[in-house]
Amino acid sequence: MGKREIDDRFKKFGTVSFTATTKVNDFIDHLENDRVSGTRCKSCGQVYFPPRADCHACLSSDMEWFDIDGSGKLMTFSNLGFAPVGFQEDVPYRIAVLDYGEFKVFGRIASDMADTDIQIGMEMKTIVNRLADDRLNFVFEKV
Ligand SMILES: [Zn+2]
Repeated sequence: MGKREIDDRFKKFGTVSFTATTKVNDFIDHLENDRVSGTRCKSCGQVYFPPRADCHACLSSDMEWFDIDGSGKLMTFSNLGFAPVGFQEDVPYRIAVLDYGEFKVFGRIASDMADTDIQIGMEMKTIVNRLADDRLNFVFEKV
């Protein structure tokens, strides 16, 4: 029997990926198809973003994917002038949290948005962003 290939699709996520192997690698396939996705527990309905393979609420592993579409409300954002190791090339950038009601999404605001266009409470959507070297992440932009 051949050695099992390591499922490392998460390597393609973001500037620096800290989790090369996870149970939710389909997330990357979805990004490649312009879908940002989370998971929903089929037993109790709890939703997760970032996606989880196991439900903390009821301990079920019976999960399904759902697409993050529509818009969320900008709860907070912050301009970063200093970045953790691996992200130095990216500064300055803005991290933010969008509130979708059932879940929140933590990410970055699209780099082409001007600061003056950003207001707490505004509706934003989460879209797939293609980076150099075939890498992917997602960013928030104005609806
Ligand atoms: Zn559950």
